[in-house]
Amino acid sequence: MLWPLLYKDLNESQRELRRKSLDFIGYSVLFSQLTALVYVYIYANFLRRGAVRRLEWRLRYRILGGKTPTRGKVQSVGAALVYWAWMGLMIWLCVKDVDHDYIHLTRAFGMAAAASLPLNVLLGMKYSPLKLVFPNCSYEGPVNVVHQWLGSQIYLLLTVHACLYLKFFWDTSRMKTRLLEADALCGVWAFGVMTILVTSAYPLVRESFYSVFYNLHIIISGLLPPLLYFHVSHSRPYIIATVGMLIVDRVLRVMSTMSTTATISLDPRSSILDILVSFPNKPPPPAGSHILLNVPSLSLWAKNPFTVVESGSGHVRMAARVRGNFTKKLVRVAKVPVNIESGYGGHGVSRELVGGVDRALLIAGGIGGTFALPWARFLKANGVDARFLWVVPKVGDLLWARDGVALAEVYITGGHNGNGEGRDEEGMELLDASSSRDALSAHPLSLSSGRPDIREAVGELVGRDKRALVMVCGPDLMAEDVKNAVRSHVLAGRDVTCHMEVFGH
Ligand SMILES: Cc1cc2nc3c(=O)[nH]c(=O)nc-3n(C[C@H](O)[C@H](O)[C@H](O)COP(=O)(O)OP(=O)(O)OC[C@H]3O[C@@H](n4cnc5c(N)ncnc54)[C@H](O)[C@@H]3O)c2cc1C
Repeated sequence: MLWPLLYKDLNESQRELRRKSLDFIGYSVLFSQLTALVYVYIYANFLRRGAVRRLEWRLRYRILGGKTPTRGKVQSVGAALVYWAWMGLMIWLCVKDVDHDYIHLTRAFGMAAAASLPLNVLLGMKYSPLKLVFPNCSYEGPVNVVHQWLGSQIYLLLTVHACLYLKFFWDTSRMKTRLLEADALCGVWAFGVMTILVTSAYPLVRESFYSVFYNLHIIISGLLPPLLYFHVSHSRPYIIATVGMLIVDRVLRVMSTMSTTATISLDPRSSILDILVSFPNKPPPPAGSHILLNVPSLSLWAKNPFTVVESGSGHVRMAARVRGNFTKKLVRVAKVPVNIESGYGGHGVSRELVGGVDRALLIAGGIGGTFALPWARFLKANGVDARFLWVVPKVGDLLWARDGVALAEVYITGGHNGNGEGRDEEGMELLDASSSRDALSAHPLSLSSGRPDIREAVGELVGRDKRALVMVCGPDLMAEDVKNAVRSHVLAGRDVTCHMEVFGH
């Protein structure tokens, strides 16, 4: 029973019982997490077909119907169900054995938060062991979104924990004494650190001040474990597990970082940098995988992710759209020492994703071509019937692709909204496509002005008895259009898989 909540004066054996009950909450959280992971594995590998798959697509409808999806936010009906079901489970675990004991409830929220920390670090690891179980799940995709959700839930649990304790100290006139004791102070500081982390990770702040978010995440998150360790002894097993994972992640990241040289060039007709990185002593990462690029002479800390578009003997090639701070500085260098962290996030082109697929449709918007082009080459080499639609604001933005352009049906929108991803708006001036052909070193399959009809393209792809794959990498609205086009076919029972690649989170 929960209500009324009382400040109970417990004897030794009652305290012992409460301690055991609180420990049990921690084990229950771990057990729930394990069950959820096993369920996701079974769901992804065995259950996601037929009526279950159609239900999943129905639940993907956006709740408030806003136009632009915001990454990390709980926006679809299905996502909201998962988020609040998990939150509900945590709250139920916290309240179920309270037995009118206010302190039990207060500590239960702290315990549930502490027990959730290791999983959250596991989800946030760049080289997470979860990849062994979910090889197709890139760090940048759903895993990162769940990491953000769980982070916000941990913060909510900690907020309730802190508020309940403050009320207790206030009611028992111990605000001035208890809060100055070392263990309570550690808790207060840990809550402060968590507040800074959550605020800097808020989408608006993160997107505007990415380097602030990134540096705070790396530096300040390291303060949390020692503060929590000294705050309360019962949560130490979770803190030790968290620290262990943070150390493994850092060590793996250092081990997969290599110092080398990059040659950077920018064609004056283009706003996309061509980056050639030499891999003299190590096999280069495969095309389609991601690397983190650090240029120490420009910034000691910043590491920006890019996609490998070409992987040859002893080198890889990447293309980077000139956008903000980092890429603008890159324009000014020609040959420069760099640190490359490879094998991060996406796994590169692989048969696993296209196994059994009869037809594929690749749709790229702007720099999303760096994702689509390696796949177009791979599908062609493996004899899969594939169509590649590539929408760019101007012809110059295709130059980096060289002969790869020959695989694409190109659409020139002529629009640029300044965010560097060709997120074009209606009513823009369209280019005369035919006059643009000469700028390219290879001829595309077709060159048109305007945008492709995505609904029609998806409709043409999806045959009655064939297995189809749609892959998209581009602006949010383009991805949303593709998702909506695919949805109607999935709901009609067609066998079509949709992979949405996201640049940034
Ligand atoms: C997996 C992945 C693959 C990508 N591949 C390409 C590509 O092939 N070509 C290309 O032009 N762009 C790619 N991007 C996007 C690219 O990383 C950003 O556009 C680039 O870092 C922005 O540079 P900037 O000059 O604006 O830098 P900054 O001003 O330093 O950063 C601005 C924005 O870049 C993004 N960003 C920076 N660092 C990171 C990071 N470590 N993790 C996630 N996002 C970050 C954030 O959205 C941030 O708001 C990719 C992004 C991801 C996540």
